[in-house]
Amino acid sequence: MAYKNIKSKKHLIFISEQPCLICSRPDVQSAHIRYAGAGIGMKPCDSFVVPLCIDHHREQHSMNEKMFWHLYKKDPLVYAFFFCLQSPDKKIKSQAFDKFRKFFE
Ligand SMILES: [Zn+2]
Repeated sequence: MAYKNIKSKKHLIFISEQPCLICSRPDVQSAHIRYAGAGIGMKPCDSFVVPLCIDHHREQHSMNEKMFWHLYKKDPLVYAFFFCLQSPDKKIKSQAFDKFRKFFE
């Protein structure tokens, strides 16, 4: 990958201010999309993060990640990409296209 993983507290806080993607509850956690990158046991880049409430975050971790998103008929990468475009963190914003391009080709 051309770009290193970005760590961004700013972006994670921004994500935690959004409603849950599944049920729209306002009390959320930032959930990393693990299949989007990084090796086994490694935290993925903070670009690949979406808001999930505690219950849905727990449910996501209780099953296969792709199956979870399939179950709710949502593509988390599309949401994560749009959140990056609106991010208050300039680094996250400016690298959004490079980070997500490969998923949408
Ligand atoms: Zn929820």
